[in-house]
Amino acid sequence: MIKPDAVSKGFIGPILSKIAEGGFSIKAMKYIQLSRGQAEAFYAVHHSRPFYEGLVEFMSSGPIVACILAKENAVEDFRAFIGSTDPEKAHEGSIRKLFGTNIQRNAVHGSDSDENAVVESNFFFSQFERF
Ligand code: GDP
Repeated sequence: MIKPDAVSKGFIGPILSKIAEGGFSIKAMKYIQLSRGQAEAFYAVHHSRPFYEGLVEFMSSGPIVACILAKENAVEDFRAFIGSTDPEKAHEGSIRKLFGTNIQRNAVHGSDSDENAVVESNFFFSQFERF
């Protein structure tokens, strides 16, 4: 997901370019705004964390770009490619270092396991929306 901070700063194009340069291909993509309830559901695993309310507020504050990406070892490679959760700690050249603002407004989301990648893909896309 390209998060609302990066979308509002005009970084959709630059982030998609980096993703393509990184060897990922796009299997599905959509530009939408999450409702509060959808953001709560997407991040339900974090509901007891102190940052949950702020995260839900932020993630439903403006449009996002949701994508399914494909690549050998995609989940692990994408996590490495985007860098640490906190952009200040993310490595040079990573998407979060280049485009993130702070630990909450960190430009992109990447699934953290193959199982969650399936759940999150199903959250956004029907089978007819994948190519
Ligand atoms: P990720 O897998 O690197 O995205 O990180 P997590 O799964 O731990 O957290 C999900 C999202 O919650 C992050 O991408 C941030 O947007 C937000 N987040 C995580 N940790 C913090 C925190 O300590 N403070 C705030 N404000 N937001 C956080």
